[in-house]
Amino acid sequence: MDEFIKMLDPALDYVEHISKGQNCLITVESNREVVTCPYCGTESTRVHSVYKREFQDLPIQDYQVVIQIRNRKMFCDNPECDHKTFSERFNFITYKARKTERLIKKILILSSRVSSVSASSMLKSDTAAVSKSTICRLLKKNASDCG
Ligand SMILES: [Zn+2]
Repeated sequence: MDEFIKMLDPALDYVEHISKGQNCLITVESNREVVTCPYCGTESTRVHSVYKREFQDLPIQDYQVVIQIRNRKMFCDNPECDHKTFSERFNFITYKARKTERLIKKILILSSRVSSVSASSMLKSDTAAVSKSTICRLLKKNASDCG
């Protein structure tokens, strides 16, 4: 399981997972010792707090995967910075997004071939619970027509 998590980002460590029916909830945490402030680029090692954040990812075998990260909020110690604290960011997911970039890519590829209704039902059966309206929103964001 740790290998799968490292494929998403080597900065993540596997903590535990619970599988229930068709779903698998995987808990992960960051192993970075220093985190860079996205606003000013200053490195920080001081943790302000930790909060839970959940997002959907690609399935493993027949399990639909939801990853829960113990996301850290760090202090920015740069007195010139406008932000006293910031959340740790990752390349595999946009800040505040609920799906990983690789899942979004898969959704967009599928939706370019079939209608969003078909794409939604195909994804629900073997990938992740994604509604038609979510697909339309993703398509619009990526400047394609929504069918
Ligand atoms: Zn800063």
